[in-house]
Amino acid sequence: MAALEHALNDLAEMFGDRISRSEAMRDHHAHGEGWQPACLPGAVIFAESTQEVSAVLRTCNQHGVPVVAFGGGTSLEGHVTPSEQGISLDLSRMTRIVELNAEDLDCRVEAGVTRHALNAYLRDTGLFFSVDPGGESTLGGMCATRASGTAAVRYGTMRENALGLTVVLADGRIVRTGGRVRKSATGYDLTRLFVGSEGTLGIITEVQLRLHGLPEAIATAVCQFDRLEDAVNTAVTTMQIGLPIGRMELLDEVQMDACIQYSKLTGYEVLPTMFFEFHGAPAAVREQVETMEAIVADNNGKGFMWSNNPEERNELWKARHNVFWACLAYRPHHRGIATDAVVPVSALTELIAGCKHDIEESGLIAPIVGHVGDGNFHTVILVPPEDDGLERALELDRKIVGRALSLGGACSGEHGVGLGKKEFMEREHGRDALDVMRMLKASFDPNNILNPGKMLPDPVN
Ligand SMILES: Cc1cc2nc3c(=O)[nH]c(=O)nc-3n(C[C@H](O)[C@H](O)[C@H](O)COP(=O)(O)OP(=O)(O)OC[C@H]3O[C@@H](n4cnc5c(N)ncnc54)[C@H](O)[C@@H]3O)c2cc1C
Repeated sequence: MAALEHALNDLAEMFGDRISRSEAMRDHHAHGEGWQPACLPGAVIFAESTQEVSAVLRTCNQHGVPVVAFGGGTSLEGHVTPSEQGISLDLSRMTRIVELNAEDLDCRVEAGVTRHALNAYLRDTGLFFSVDPGGESTLGGMCATRASGTAAVRYGTMRENALGLTVVLADGRIVRTGGRVRKSATGYDLTRLFVGSEGTLGIITEVQLRLHGLPEAIATAVCQFDRLEDAVNTAVTTMQIGLPIGRMELLDEVQMDACIQYSKLTGYEVLPTMFFEFHGAPAAVREQVETMEAIVADNNGKGFMWSNNPEERNELWKARHNVFWACLAYRPHHRGIATDAVVPVSALTELIAGCKHDIEESGLIAPIVGHVGDGNFHTVILVPPEDDGLERALELDRKIVGRALSLGGACSGEHGVGLGKKEFMEREHGRDALDVMRMLKASFDPNNILNPGKMLPDPVN
């Protein structure tokens, strides 16, 4: 009998019908939201507790069966692609809020809680959780990919917002890392090692999270520019003078066109556009808005409009969160590849100008949207349906990443590596650093059962 059958036999009593081998369920777990080819897992198991995750890993480790953790399945680089002879371990039913410590601004949640569910739970507490990637992602998956989003410029990424974890190791042992304190000077920082490890070192079952107080006042502003370069320079100046901006997002004219059509935005021209959000006490917010208006004027921005009306604010940010779907709707029969590159903020103008040139040269349509305060931006390359469409799109992605790396950046600011970005890891980190990562992987997971083949490229002799 194959290893997978032995493992499933051993787990049958504990999981019953929470082991699924149906075609539909395996198909749902065969891919994320990226372009990489799908692969049906041998089986899907739904875990409901840390002890159950431990039982699955202990058993699979004994039999040498690959296990890929599955949260919301929204990752974009083939992270959740399973193995045919392996298990997709779905954590989306682990949805308990374990504790809330409102006085200390932290909470502990199970890995399957989504950021939307957490913020709904916090609604009446005056607190919120700040990291906001686009899809219906889980907090376990967000830790595993070191996710961020539009508010990272002010509140940080999952790296800053995960205080501690419960993690099940490949052999089934359960460890707790970090804790509730804001700082600690003891031991290796295992929390930060697991955050961003993409399910290759252990499976996270609980997360201790940092929360933030809801700002007393919030204002939104929008502004358009004739030249993309002026918009990017606005972002760079804002960061350089240290304005404590809540969110700052750039949409180029192509992205704006897609959003106007998809989200029925009115009153905007098809031009490069910046969205801003300001958080703080009312007087501080007013001051920030005035400073921003002056920066925008210095950079030839026009039509600076601001508002503290929550409905207008929600409409605008909803349109921002829908950019991926707006891009897919922009050209029928095209797929979308979401690229992701990040550079030090002073290099952003050069990077985006270079990318615009690459996009034009490629003949492809690729709207640009960016968390520009972090030096991070995406294009959604629309893949034409022709035979060579995907290869042309990947070639453009390689050029964009190449530019970011040559400007001292990284091949991903937030989406992570998965399968899609493996080819850039050696160029970014160097051979020796990659060897250290491989050593860590081998010591945490000697039988290579945890999300095998992801993140680390095979060594080249
Ligand atoms: C429209 C759209 C917009 C997006 N915008 C952003 C954005 O702004 N910022 C951003 O950072 N990302 C963004 N993403 C990417 C994606 O939402 C994030 O990577 C998110 O963190 C993935 O969470 P998930 O729960 O869906 O994880 P999954 O896709 O299920 O898994 C991702 C990886 O983590 C592993 N994993 C999942 N759960 C666990 C666990 N409990 N323990 C260990 N490993 C685990 C998986 O094995 C896999 O390797 C976007 C995606 C889409 C589709």
